[in-house]
Amino acid sequence: MNILEIKGLSVEIGGKLILSNINLNVASGESNMLFGPNGSGKSTLLNTILGMPDYEVVGGSIIFDGRDVTNLSIDEHARMGIGFGFQQPPEVVGVKLEDILKVCEGTARDKELSNEAKELVERLDMQKYLYRDVNVGFSGGERKRAEVLQLLIMKPKLLLLDEPDSGVDVESLGLIAGEIQKYLTKNNASALIITNHGHILEHIKAQRACVLMNKIIYCYNKPKKIFRNIKEKGYQGCTKCQKRNPSRDQNGAM
Ligand code: ADP
Ligand code: MG
Repeated sequence: MNILEIKGLSVEIGGKLILSNINLNVASGESNMLFGPNGSGKSTLLNTILGMPDYEVVGGSIIFDGRDVTNLSIDEHARMGIGFGFQQPPEVVGVKLEDILKVCEGTARDKELSNEAKELVERLDMQKYLYRDVNVGFSGGERKRAEVLQLLIMKPKLLLLDEPDSGVDVESLGLIAGEIQKYLTKNNASALIITNHGHILEHIKAQRACVLMNKIIYCYNKPKKIFRNIKEKGYQGCTKCQKRNPSRDQNGAM
């Protein structure tokens, strides 16, 4: 079964067509990597799935967990179990990290976080940030750790992560990616993860890789092999490979 099915999706921002007729499935319990040159529309795809305003779906549909969620709001998506990790998590002045964690967990303000949540805080080494304003003055790695904490506490069925490995030192990356993989395995959850430099591939067991380029998306098995090809031949080489193998459709295996 697929947790996410994107069918013939076309998206405009401010009247400009950014994505055209995109097809992509994420199977339940699997992780997909999403590659593609800068400006190819990777973030647009994730933001549209989440239901961010300004991203206008002008064609196609998004099915999540068997339900058409194409026109639902961000809140509704979150409640249904779609978790989102931003490339640059924003600062939230005046809100303590602990308070936001309570909102994520559904714990009343005057109650303590659950033991499970407290353990995750410790494993991500975020105890001393609980009483600071969210992300204010946090380093890149601290921001990402705080974000993964919020995300996993919400217990999403599908994680959408926009470049979780950008601006993060190796140690923090190992920590956050390790927790993400543990969560995915334990909860049979799924993920769609954008990565440019591929470091996260060393930590997350991905079953598939999709390449978004020239408004077309191609999906393959063996993400590490695909990424090696892109590193060696660049995205141009990737285009040639697609041309040489016309039988590979948008969900073709490699
Ligand atoms: P990627 O994440 O693959 O680097 P993006 O999805 O951010 O690419 O951007 C895809 C295209 O959409 C780019 O040409 C970008 O300039 C354009 N775009 C993204 N956001 C906006 C916006 N808010 N207004 C206008 N154009 C945008
Ligand atoms: Mg992007």
